[in-house]
Amino acid sequence: MVSTSSYQTNKSKEIFTAAQKLMPGGVSSPVRAFKSVGGQPIVFDRVKGAYIQDVDGNEYIDYVGTWGPAICGHAHPEVIAALHEALEKGTSFGAPCVQENILAEMVIDAVPSIEMVRFVNSGTEACMSVLRLMRAFTGREKIIKFEGCYHGHADMFLVKAGSGVATLGLPDSPGVPKTTTNNTLTAPYNDLEAVKKLFIENPDSIAGVILEPVVGNAGFIVPDAGFLEGLRELTREYGALLVFDEVMTGFRVAYGGAQEKFGITPDLTTLGKVIGGGLPVGAYGGRADIMAMVAPAGPMYQAGTLSGNPLAMTAGIKTLELLQRPGSYEYLDKITKRLSEGLLQIAREAGHAVYGGSISGMFGMFFTGDPVHNYEDAKKSDLAKFSRFHRGMLEKGIYLAPSQFEAGFTSLAHTDAEIDRTLAAAREVLSGL
Ligand code: PMP
Repeated sequence: MVSTSSYQTNKSKEIFTAAQKLMPGGVSSPVRAFKSVGGQPIVFDRVKGAYIQDVDGNEYIDYVGTWGPAICGHAHPEVIAALHEALEKGTSFGAPCVQENILAEMVIDAVPSIEMVRFVNSGTEACMSVLRLMRAFTGREKIIKFEGCYHGHADMFLVKAGSGVATLGLPDSPGVPKTTTNNTLTAPYNDLEAVKKLFIENPDSIAGVILEPVVGNAGFIVPDAGFLEGLRELTREYGALLVFDEVMTGFRVAYGGAQEKFGITPDLTTLGKVIGGGLPVGAYGGRADIMAMVAPAGPMYQAGTLSGNPLAMTAGIKTLELLQRPGSYEYLDKITKRLSEGLLQIAREAGHAVYGGSISGMFGMFFTGDPVHNYEDAKKSDLAKFSRFHRGMLEKGIYLAPSQFEAGFTSLAHTDAEIDRTLAAAREVLSGL
């Protein structure tokens, strides 16, 4: 752990300064640039277990977990060993491999809605493909998404989106044709009445509803009682599909994702992050009659040079095997609750208005005292205070997501010792804010 007095990030600064001349904003993905929290972005050198180390040698307890995949802890020795073995056979076949069958079977066994699955390379790809499938299957063009939910950066989802879009305040990106987003209808999260109104206004033209069943991309927001059930009923009533984007929640809030946790089965599901064990993977799947539309079984085209890559499949298989061990999710639940409740209590004792919670290995804390049910509520957070909190924690060796509008992640490698150190750091930082 770093001590505040010796904390310096000169090498990060040097590398990031050079990066800014080479790549837009110096990064390969926007939130990494620390734009909303300010200060020097950190350039990393290695990860292990619950820890991430920067190029200056500072070590941090990591609550980003490469944005979700590192649920077993970074660079788990069994994942690394499996990858070494797979690597000996080559890096890509561009043809079927048996690892695809193994991972597909594990996903189908785990996720209630998935009877067949197609692997892709990212969550973005999974969501843009599932949207095409929703339209192909229903013959309808409109979709409903929720304000503050993020489904990757494909054109038709860049409407009131979350994640980096929310962080940078870029709700409607230039370059996205109006003709593309005209068919994207939006509603506030947890607002069934708003969804009902959209269906009444467009009874025969809505292909489906897509949502994060637990939101992570507007900060951490849980579905109100009855919300998921209501969406299931409304979509059935209007002949539309219900799609859970479980890129973040899949194999995280429960082994079978939010649909297992809440007992609501959508028609289609997207996955990513955990199922790739830290390598680039996404997937979409669902009812076999819908998946039968996907080429070459059916007419809806979707393809990928590196899809089903043997290394990515191997990392995913081993990660899911580790998660299957008894007690994994009970452990994640326990350790994360301790962290989340501890943070909220310490913040309140220090006089700050906060709101938050956790489910299994996913948590969040907003700097607002009012309950947060949707993105509008999340936006009431004191962002300047969050920035100071983030910087203070960083200087004490705690790496939190550099945005108020992102969830936090724990892993099986986080122990009581890491939580103790995190809470001790939070006590110091929050009392000085
Ligand atoms: N959907 C959700 C719910 C996500 O959280 C993300 C990424 N954070 C995506 C889609 C996009 O995934 P990727 O970044 O792998 O393209």
